[in-house]
Amino acid sequence: MPIPTGRFAPTPSGRLHLGNILCAMLAYLSVRHEGGRFLLRIEDVDIPRCPRRLAQQCIDDLQWLGFTWDEAPLYQSERTEVYRQYLDQLTGRGHVYPCFCTRAQLMSLAAPNLGDTQVVYQRTCASLTPEEAAEKAKTRAPAMRLRVPEEVISFEDGLFGVQQEHLARDCGDFILRRSDGLYGYQLAVVVDDALSGVTEVVRGRDILSATPRQLYLQRLLGFVQPQYVHIPLLMDAQGRRLAKRDQDLDLSALAKRFSPPEILGRLACSAGLMEEVRPMTLEALIPLFDWEKVKREDLHLSGIDRE
Ligand code: GLU
Repeated sequence: MPIPTGRFAPTPSGRLHLGNILCAMLAYLSVRHEGGRFLLRIEDVDIPRCPRRLAQQCIDDLQWLGFTWDEAPLYQSERTEVYRQYLDQLTGRGHVYPCFCTRAQLMSLAAPNLGDTQVVYQRTCASLTPEEAAEKAKTRAPAMRLRVPEEVISFEDGLFGVQQEHLARDCGDFILRRSDGLYGYQLAVVVDDALSGVTEVVRGRDILSATPRQLYLQRLLGFVQPQYVHIPLLMDAQGRRLAKRDQDLDLSALAKRFSPPEILGRLACSAGLMEEVRPMTLEALIPLFDWEKVKREDLHLSGIDRE
């Protein structure tokens, strides 16, 4: 049996907020409760949006809260060579094709929607001949897309049960490397989780819909599938989801009002691990942890409100 290995993988495009800390806390407690390893990965693959200063701030904030990790943090911005090797492998096996469509073209061809910003790609560039692709490449750098199968991909989520998605119909061929050369989140996450030996992925429900794409990539690359637990989103007292723009509930503001055990105790109570709010360190929460106690519906903050 592999050693249970969990991770927290923040994108440092802003200061951590309470939703991120809840996620880190549950990921940490789940794996520490089993005596396993916990890793930190800085998801700064979108280099211009994620300055080093913010990555360091995330690390400082996590340490202030009492988190420890078992290996040096991994920075995705330093791993583009690794992602390139896996992209080359998939390209060599015929799973990937260059896409020269501009954003405006993609929006005008949009088929029934996945949301306001995401559209199912209509495979405009999927059947370009190598000569046509070479001609287009003279004037525009392509994005690289993964061809997805006409297949339903399903998995069992630890909290939300069986999930499924028809990749070609509901998602479409997705981007592994952008036209500006930056690697896509899906490829980076799958490669890093596998190479780090991650057995358990705990993350927000907002990423649940990306998981079938990741499972398909894992299958193509021959990686072992980790367990997935997507956690409910954290809402403020007005029922609004917390986000990085909510600076009144990010750590710079919270640290002025609360100690680490006060923050963690409130989050543990919001998640359902304790009945009453009381200050708790991470270590003291480990024996209390049980996924059975964790609520499945959206969570409401206990004892912390906006100023
Ligand atoms: N980097 C993502 C985020 O901060 C999380 C990705 C993951 O946990 O797989 O939302």
